[in-house]
Formats: sequence, structure tokens, C-alpha cells
Amino acid sequence: LGAAPGHAQKIIRTQIRCHHHYELNHFVQRAPAETTAVGSKPGTTSFRLAVKDNFATKDLPTTCASSILAGYSSPFEATIVRQLRDRGAVVVGKTNMDEFGMGSHSTHSSHGPVLNPLSEVPPTSAGGSSGGSAVAVRVGDADIALGTDTGGSIRLPAAYCGVVGYKPSYGMLSRWGVVPYANSLDTVGLFARDATAIENLVFGTKLDEEHDPNDPTSLSTNFRTSHRTRQQQQQQQQQQEKGPIRVGVPLEYNIEELDPLIRTAWSDAANVLSDAGVEIVPVSLPSTRQALAAYYVIAPAEASSNLAKYDGVRYGVRGEESDAAGEVLYSKTRGDGFGDEVKRRILLGSYSLSSEAMDNYFIQAQKVRRLVQRDFDRVFRIENPLYDAQQFDLSDMSDNVRLEDKLGPSQVDFLLCPTAPTFAPRMQDLETQTPVEVYMNDVFTVPASLAGLPAVSIPVTIRSPAPDADESRKVAGLQLIGQYWDDRRLLNMAADLS
Ligand code: GLN
Repeated sequence: LGAAPGHAQKIIRTQIRCHHHYELNHFVQRAPAETTAVGSKPGTTSFRLAVKDNFATKDLPTTCASSILAGYSSPFEATIVRQLRDRGAVVVGKTNMDEFGMGSHSTHSSHGPVLNPLSEVPPTSAGGSSGGSAVAVRVGDADIALGTDTGGSIRLPAAYCGVVGYKPSYGMLSRWGVVPYANSLDTVGLFARDATAIENLVFGTKLDEEHDPNDPTSLSTNFRTSHRTRQQQQQQQQQQEKGPIRVGVPLEYNIEELDPLIRTAWSDAANVLSDAGVEIVPVSLPSTRQALAAYYVIAPAEASSNLAKYDGVRYGVRGEESDAAGEVLYSKTRGDGFGDEVKRRILLGSYSLSSEAMDNYFIQAQKVRRLVQRDFDRVFRIENPLYDAQQFDLSDMSDNVRLEDKLGPSQVDFLLCPTAPTFAPRMQDLETQTPVEVYMNDVFTVPASLAGLPAVSIPVTIRSPAPDADESRKVAGLQLIGQYWDDRRLLNMAADLS
């Protein structure tokens, strides 16, 4: 591992020395100035949009921060970019990220690391993998930024940079034209300085109602419309019969590694909600601890399969040498083109899918994933529409999620927990962290990803920061998680809280 963060550190030092000022390095490519003027087109208010570099854009290259895609230009544009342009978006640039979305600090990038604008000295992680998008919004280069969230890549940088980051329900926003990392987990989401901006864009312009026939994971129009009616009915019923909104505080998220100041911010927020008439109840999500391990089996397994196409023939900057069989071409291309973290994921994934390891890793991880999903379904008041017995017959599945699993009294509307256990780490400290230590940052974000649930990270101010604290220690992210397809209410709640 040593190589990657060490390399990152070298780049930081060089930048500081060469430019005599602080380089955030959040854009890999800015759009030409003449194309970014924000005016008002009839019927729409235009806004500045930053786009993570794993979204295909017609006029700017799409590299996923990988040498293997250096200079790659897509002949088409991602559906979501088109949808946002239709709503007034002016693309200001492509943002820096961890290569193919693999990472938590935006340091594994062929363009060098992103730095957190909240702390110039010492240099501090902006979070990842969508770090460039979070920074673009934080420093005001964009009003809205697009990111992807597979296991926390929107929520984590949002928390570290003090902005709002929203990961929608799996299948809500189109992924067509987005380079896949782990298909069963990947979502497209948004950053903004406040939750209302996201709420207005997604629900105010009915983005949530648009099915994309090009994306096989995009929920059908029928689901979207019929579910909306059902949800409204359930909500009305709740307001009439069941009293106030109830927010669950998951006990298993109160881990030893949680920074005490973030723990205080979490309980402060619960108190604020309680004073506002929200009922706060403790809940248990027992599979939380295993979720992280399951994620780091499933995500690399899917990634190893997705990345097979970068072989210098179908995709990828081709290595110089070749032989008749193509083996040298293949290994040179991949050996030179992929960074260390991506190679590590490919090795992990290929191993866990191999015949001797499959049962012990991949199959076990899928079982844990079901347990995580069941944990959530047990605590939420609203049923998971995906497990609606009328739509899906689950009767012959051994570990199915049945309504009778909804044990106990804690039927909550939302869950409230920290987004990350610590403040943004210092770049220097990342150098000595092992990959597993880095993966630990995702402990609070991966459960919602495994279950496909909507989640939003909201910045909160730290009440009594340390006397020598810089801005990156004065803000933390709190996460609200909702039941599947309860995104509208979730963002509403987030807007109230922020
Ligand atoms: N840090 C996690 C990973 O490396 C999440 C990344 C993501 O959500 N794209 O897999």
C-alpha cells in the first residue's frame, strides 16, 4: 500500500512548493469559461453543476481518475447529466475522485489527491471517493455536484467537507452512462450546500418519477407512480393514527472508535429533534458490525468482473509491448493502467469468487447482506415496497423478510447516526494506515448501501471544539436513513434538521 499515499504526499509537497499556495485539486478538467456562464433560460433557472469524472459527458473527457482511461472521451452522455441540463444545469467541470470510485479519501487518483478546503495546514482528507464534487460545492465553484455512492462515497466526503450529500434509494436515479464499480450497490446522488436545494431539484422537478429504459436497474414507471400513491396513503394514515414522527437511534453505531465530540453532536441532534416534538427511540441493528466485512467482499467481487473489460482491446490505453496471443498486451495494459488500490480490489474480488473461496466469502457475505436488510425492515414503520408480498412471492425463500419479522415496538420513520466515526483524517496519518484501517471509515455508510436505502449526510456544528481546532474539526456529518423509496420524506426531514 505504501506507494499510493506516499505518492500522494509527494504531490502535495510539490504543489505547496511550486505554487506557494494551496491546491485543492478538486477538478480534473474545468469546462471552458465561455460555456459556463449562468444565465436564465426561459422556464428554468440555471445553476452550476460539477460532475464526478465517472459520468460520461459529451464535451469533456471521462477518465474515472485512472491512467487506463487517460484522455478517453465518451461518444454519449449519461442520462442524469442530460436530465440535469434539461433542468438548467451548466456543467462547470469534471471532478477528481478515487480511481473507479474505490477509496475513501480521493487520494487514489491518477490526477493526484484532493485536499479538504476546511484545513490548509495540515493537509487533510476531503473524503472519497467523490471528494472533488464535495469540495466544488463547499468552495462555491458549483451549486450542485453529481457523485456516485456505492458504500458511502457521497456521504463520507459530504461529512468531511461540511456539505449535504444525498444517496437516493437504489434504482431511483439513472446510472446509464456512469462507469460501474459494483452494480448491485452503485447509486447516483447529489451534493449541495443545503438539503432544500436537493429536495427542490429531485422532487420539485420530478426527477424521481423518470424511468430510464437504458438502465436495467432503473425502477419502472409503474412502480414509481403506484408506490407514490400508496406512500401518501400510509403517511396520511400515520399522521391521523400514530402520532408524531419517530426517529431511531441505532445502538450498535455507538462504537468505541466514535470520536467523543461526534458522539455529543449526535445526541445534541437527537435532543433538538425531541424538543421539536419528534419521538426518539433506541433501536437495535445487530448485523451492523458484519456489514462492513460483507461489503468489502461483495464490492470487490463485482468490481473484478466490471474491470475485466479494460484490457487494451475493448477499453483502455494500450501498453506498448504485445505478443501474438495478446497476453503481454493484456498484462502490460492492466499492470501500467491500474493503480494499487484498484489492483488490490481485483485480487480480492477474483479470490473471493474463485471456486475454493466462494462458499466461505461471497456466499457468506450475501447472507449477511440479507440480515442487514432484515435489520432495517424490522425497525422501519413503513413496509419495504420491494418485499411487498403482492408484488414478489417470497414464500419459498429460506431467509425471507416477512412482515412477522417486524418484531418489537420500535417502528421508526427514520434512523439517525453519525456519517463517519472520526473527523477528516490528516493526509500524513493516511500514509501509515493499512487498507483495512481505511475501510473502517465506511462502517456507518455501508449498511444503507447493502440494503439499497436512501440516506443523507447533513453537516452539524461541533458545540465545544478543541481550542486549537481548525474548521475541519468544527463540523461533523450526521446521517439520516429512511425506508426504501421514502426519499421525499427523508429529504424533507433533512431540510428541517439543517
Ligand atoms: N470507500 C468505499 C470503497 O472504497 C466506498 C466507495 C464508493 O462508495 N464508491 O469501496
